[in-house]
Amino acid sequence: MSRPIEVLVVGGGLGGLTTALALRQRGLEVTVLEAANELGEVGAGIQTAPNASRILMGLGLLSQMRAIHTQPEDQVRRRWADGSIIASKPLGRAVQEQYGAPYWHYHRADLHRMLLDACLDPERPGAVVRFAVGCRVAELDLTDPARPAALTDGGQRWAADVVVGADGIRSRVRDLVGAPDTLVFSGEMAYRVLIPGKRIADDPATRFLLDRYHSTIWYGPDRHLVHYFIRGGQYLNVVGIVPCSPEIETTWSGSVPVGELVAAYPGWDDRVPAMLSKAEDNVTAWAMSYRRRDPRWVFGRVALLGDACHAMLPYQAQGASQAMEDAAVLAEELGSVTQAGIDGALVRYVARRAKHAGMVQAASLENMRFYHLPDGPEQRARDAALQQFHGESDVSYDWLWRGTPLDDPDVVPFDYEFRR
Ligand SMILES: Cc1cc2nc3c(=O)[nH]c(=O)nc-3n(C[C@H](O)[C@H](O)[C@H](O)COP(=O)(O)OP(=O)(O)OC[C@H]3O[C@@H](n4cnc5c(N)ncnc54)[C@H](O)[C@@H]3O)c2cc1C
Repeated sequence: MSRPIEVLVVGGGLGGLTTALALRQRGLEVTVLEAANELGEVGAGIQTAPNASRILMGLGLLSQMRAIHTQPEDQVRRRWADGSIIASKPLGRAVQEQYGAPYWHYHRADLHRMLLDACLDPERPGAVVRFAVGCRVAELDLTDPARPAALTDGGQRWAADVVVGADGIRSRVRDLVGAPDTLVFSGEMAYRVLIPGKRIADDPATRFLLDRYHSTIWYGPDRHLVHYFIRGGQYLNVVGIVPCSPEIETTWSGSVPVGELVAAYPGWDDRVPAMLSKAEDNVTAWAMSYRRRDPRWVFGRVALLGDACHAMLPYQAQGASQAMEDAAVLAEELGSVTQAGIDGALVRYVARRAKHAGMVQAASLENMRFYHLPDGPEQRARDAALQQFHGESDVSYDWLWRGTPLDDPDVVPFDYEFRR
């Protein structure tokens, strides 16, 4: 009998952890190398649409997801100037029934912790995932094509049958295998902040936000605003996308005063400054970049995954979700072969995923213009299209939320009786 396949995952973000867990579940031996001294995520919200929720459910995580999720009942689109509702689409139970998996919101740290706990849980199927933190991969040793090795800047050498580069948008692994430089700065930045739900509840001008949980997008010229509650109303997660300031274009990210966030939405409906001014001193701004589509994700026994190969603008909120789809497909492929079949499995991984993720990348980019149209005929046509809710771009919600077909989805039946 051949020995289990060993995989080295570089990067312990949401993509790397989902990959580690999915591979473990299929009987592979996994080690994760993480550059940071501690594993974790930024203080912000994240959503998993049904395509990603289905993967997490397939990993046996439904009860854990239930413990940390917040369920938006509707997706609401508003106009910048007067807050009027352009369109509203039921999410909640309607999505669960149609797609067999929920559309849920989380605190990123909770989602990351859930995956980490599952990777480390000795009671789960497969070998417990090994983690090495403070291990920044600096070089690859590809001398033995069947045993690629990662060399850390601390001088350690880690060899495996397969190396997965899940090291994010500025992937070092990607550079080391000689993949093309596809990184593009979009010219925009994202403000991110968690506003205490209590402050929203205490003001009659913003209390309406707690009447029913929504996922809300406000559309305006050159900018937009997204918000939703996480941790059952403890925080309102806010993402505001605006043209990038010269400061953030230089530093790429940083803390900014609350006043700057409020001032970024001049003339918007009064409820917008009422909401944004409740932020405490924890507003950050991030320059937004993406990668151009590139269908080559595998270089010998080194495979790329997540933002390392398909970093996209967050205009479909799908970056991590697509990484989770990568993880599920890679695990299906590597989990169904022995040593002799590894190369073929990696080829099939890319064949099943690259076009799909590339379409989401392209659609997210298209949305940059679509979201930020100045008032006028194009904006009115866009708003009319939004009312149809087939999707915002060339990819429909239906296609997106059904996800990449899996051979063996392992999905536990969704319990429709569950309520938040
Ligand atoms: C404002 C905003 C909102 C978003 N909202 C959503 C959403 O709602 N839903 C969604 O699905 N996606 C969303 N995304 C996208 C999502 O956050 C990313 O696509 C996703 O987190 C990428 O995961 P990853 O694991 O590929 O990379 P990362 O999360 O970047 O993880 C990479 C990891 O690799 C480590 N690393 C880097 N270099 C090395 C090295 N040399 N050696 C070892 N380790 C290394 C890093 O420290 C990090 O831990 C959003 C993005 C933004 C900016």
